[in-house]
Amino acid sequence: MAKARILLVEDSKPQAELVTKFLESRGYEVVWTEDGKSAIKIAKTQPVDIILLDLVLPDISGNEVCRWLKMSADTKGIPIIMLTVKGAVTDKVAGLEAGADDYLQKPFNEIELNARIYACLRTKALQDELKEKNRQLEELLKQVELMAITDQLTGIHNRRLFETILKKEFNKTARYKNYLTCLMIDIDHFKRINDMYGHRAGDITLKEIAHIITNNAREIDTVARWGGEEFIVLFSQIKKDDALQPASRILTAISEHKFTGITDEQITVSIGIAGIPDPSIDTEEKLIHAADVALYEAKKNGRNRIEIS
Ligand code: GH3
Ligand code: MG
Ligand code: MG
Ligand code: MG
Repeated sequence: MAKARILLVEDSKPQAELVTKFLESRGYEVVWTEDGKSAIKIAKTQPVDIILLDLVLPDISGNEVCRWLKMSADTKGIPIIMLTVKGAVTDKVAGLEAGADDYLQKPFNEIELNARIYACLRTKALQDELKEKNRQLEELLKQVELMAITDQLTGIHNRRLFETILKKEFNKTARYKNYLTCLMIDIDHFKRINDMYGHRAGDITLKEIAHIITNNAREIDTVARWGGEEFIVLFSQIKKDDALQPASRILTAISEHKFTGITDEQITVSIGIAGIPDPSIDTEEKLIHAADVALYEAKKNGRNRIEIS
């Protein structure tokens, strides 16, 4: 164990000197204070591994100090050993009820004091280790959760998360008789881009397109990678005819973008738009299908264009 720092709260100077001398001889670093208020202040502002707390102090009682420290998130992890001259069972119980981890009757045997300090420190070290492991586990869990909803290549939402959001948005929109519009976006002749410039350049193009679409959507819209070279966007509270404007912005931004590594080829996309309310659309699947049909129309009608279902 590294050199532990002990906060000794003891109003009797000779007693404190005696204990300090002993503890220092055992390799501990000792910070001594004689009253309750300064003990709380030190515990809150300095690194302290364990507190030896006298029950009877000039300002507030040791039990009160103990209660304060155990209530506060930043100090509750510090083990406290109550030191008391009183042997009464009620005093011990009161100390333990205040949150003390252990108690020791004065005058105490030095070997016993040392053993109890060691036991408290070991318990704290184990608790700290456990806390750290839990923290790491939570961190890992967060990463796994994020990975499960993120498209690895582009970093935007994946299809799985999109479908979850769509379900919620669709129900909400239907219930509140609002608008919801879906854009299906597919890169034109992407196979040719891969063939001419290689798969890696194709991947970079996908990332840049994801970026452009995201930049041209609002914070409340949902942008996701639907599959291979297809992207999907949900515009909340927007009529499908009004979605033409942001869709055109995306179309233009992509066709004007200079893609990394793509030298003499213009990259364009085709976009299909569908929305609710629509008498023929009563499920999320039908909304997607309608956007897909519109996309097919856009391809058929020459690409680099938008069709509304
Ligand atoms: P169209 O204009 O009709 O959409 O033509 P297209 O060539 O884009 O359509 P098609 O569906 O025939 O081809 C899609 C291509 O997208 C084929 C596939 O190799 C490529 N692709 C799909 N996913 C990825 C990917 O993650 N990275 C790269 N580089 N290419 C991908
Ligand atoms: Mg005292
Ligand atoms: Mg496709
Ligand atoms: Mg395509």
